[in-house]
Amino acid sequence: MATSVIVVGDGPGGLSAALFLAKGGISVTVYGQDKTAMHWALLKNYLGIPEILGSEFQRIARAQVEAVGGRLENARVESIATDGARFRVLLEGGVTDSADFVILSEGKSPRLALQLGLRFDDQDGLGVDANGQTSVAGAYAIGRLARPTRSQAIISAGDGAKAAIDILSRVTGKPVQDWDEPAKG
Ligand SMILES: Cc1cc2nc3c(=O)[nH]c(=O)nc-3n(C[C@H](O)[C@H](O)[C@H](O)COP(=O)(O)OP(=O)(O)OC[C@H]3O[C@@H](n4cnc5c(N)ncnc54)[C@H](O)[C@@H]3O)c2cc1C
Repeated sequence: MATSVIVVGDGPGGLSAALFLAKGGISVTVYGQDKTAMHWALLKNYLGIPEILGSEFQRIARAQVEAVGGRLENARVESIATDGARFRVLLEGGVTDSADFVILSEGKSPRLALQLGLRFDDQDGLGVDANGQTSVAGAYAIGRLARPTRSQAIISAGDGAKAAIDILSRVTGKPVQDWDEPAKG
């Protein structure tokens, strides 16, 4: 069975993770209802983009993920659990889903992280390694969730990329570089 990843949260962190995973051929589903704080932002600090409304950034990012095969599901995840091998989520309405890995990008609320038994500190966030791996194997925490006092879109997007590349490298058993080049000639 192909490796699958569930991403909880559709802000820049979750969407960035999904972009890299989908490009890398992983089956990825993002759960979220487009309620990110980005809709209140006017970005002037996202390197490479002089200025953009947060809502416009989100519109482009969501389309970018879908264009490479990432699935965006307009749903809230009510609960999460793991049996040590797979992660199972329960959605509103009783629908369930499961995956080999989970990336939590919940933003300011650590609700699901706490359900997995992770410890959360208002200042320091969740204890994660440099790739966002938490103390629960296969569960990553990224973006504002991982460090609530450092809430910038580009940091969340970078976190998402790091977690995704880490998963891709684990799945393939070798370091993964996601590089594209312009057509020659
Ligand atoms: C007024 C304002 C201005 C800002 N200006 C800037 C700026 O100029 N530059 C900048 O870099 N940053 C700015 N920010 C901060 C920026 O919005 C955040 O850094 C960014 O949104 C964090 O991204 P994230 O992906 O970590 O989390 P979020 O964007 O918070 O995304 C988390 C998402 O997960 C969803 N979610 C949570 N739990 C669940 C669940 N159980 N099921 C499904 N979905 C769930 C939430 O609804 C949300 O959509 C601003 C924020 C505000 C409020």
